[in-house]
Amino acid sequence: MIRFNKVLENIKTYEAGKPIELVVREFGIAPEDVVKLASNENPIGTSPAVAEAIKANATKAHLYPDDSMFELKAALSSKFDVTDENIIIGAGSDQVLEFISRAVLDEDSSVLMSAVTFAMYEIYAKQMGAKVIRTASYEHKYDEFMEAYRMHKPKIVYICTPNNPTGDATSKEEVLAMIEAMHKDSIIVVDGAYMEYAAAKDAKYAITPNDLLGYENVIYLGTFSKAYGLGGMRVGYGIAQVGLIKELYKMRPPFNISTLSLAAAIEACKDESFVKESIALHQEQIKRYEVFANENGLGFIDSYTNFITYLFDEKLDSTKISDALLQRGVIIRNLASYGMNAVRITIGTQKQNDTFFKHFKEVVA
Ligand SMILES: *Cc1c(COP(=O)(O)O)cnc(C)c1O
Repeated sequence: MIRFNKVLENIKTYEAGKPIELVVREFGIAPEDVVKLASNENPIGTSPAVAEAIKANATKAHLYPDDSMFELKAALSSKFDVTDENIIIGAGSDQVLEFISRAVLDEDSSVLMSAVTFAMYEIYAKQMGAKVIRTASYEHKYDEFMEAYRMHKPKIVYICTPNNPTGDATSKEEVLAMIEAMHKDSIIVVDGAYMEYAAAKDAKYAITPNDLLGYENVIYLGTFSKAYGLGGMRVGYGIAQVGLIKELYKMRPPFNISTLSLAAAIEACKDESFVKESIALHQEQIKRYEVFANENGLGFIDSYTNFITYLFDEKLDSTKISDALLQRGVIIRNLASYGMNAVRITIGTQKQNDTFFKHFKEVVA
């Protein structure tokens, strides 16, 4: 019998949003009728220039990509006004989370995060045998974080702002206050996967890598998977002081981003108008979800992201509702596994949202 590492006993496999193909196979729904609002992807797709760049690089499939990632780092460093040495690129910002976890965690350490937050923080910590400490609230409350921090002395503190899967955000002022109050021997991860949406909604919540670069123990994470519409290409980044980045580089496998992913991300950096357009559509459409919730007596969390979290009372069951919608070809995210009677819905195109509202009304009735 194979004896797997003991730490694996406590790890629950990450549950991704269900793919369109599954709904097609299981419920016989035509792919074009499936509405996927489960993984916070950009509903309008990606920039046309990006698609062109991917095609143009198809003939380079036999060559390893540029392992220095010179061009992508140049694009990011001018975008954020940092140097290329402040940047590490990952196969999604997920991979950067993995580098951070492997660089500092062991069986004697712990990580601190909010009660309900991105599932991978816990999985990477447990892979290293580290203990997971959570605050009582899903919001990143200063007092709760500082109390747990003093008690446990965690090696990593996760501040996910805006937070997934709840959609709330922590102001720049509060994030900086926490960073100032914590010791320099803990790594503080500010995960800004949805920062483009928060920054567009309210400047108080906008945090840039540069705001954090003065702290040797803080790393900002960003991704091309959400606002930039490149979830399928797997590109994310970490930005921190050179000393921290150098250590993380020791964890990186060679050629961790494919040639096509690099080309796509470089092009995406150039097309800021696509992000602007995506956010404009999003801001118009998310209002409909707020109005719908108010009209139908549903609770929701004020969202700083490209999704909205509906909170149900005891009359509605998030599992039953998600399952019934799935059978109708509408994929959303049930938050029962996070201990919440709630669902997370990615804001879609106008047409996708129409479909959601129609089916949701019927299912609840
Ligand atoms: C989507 C997401 C990520 C990372 O996504 P990648 O596709 O791996 O870049 C990181 N953090 C949060 C909170 C996310 O929602």
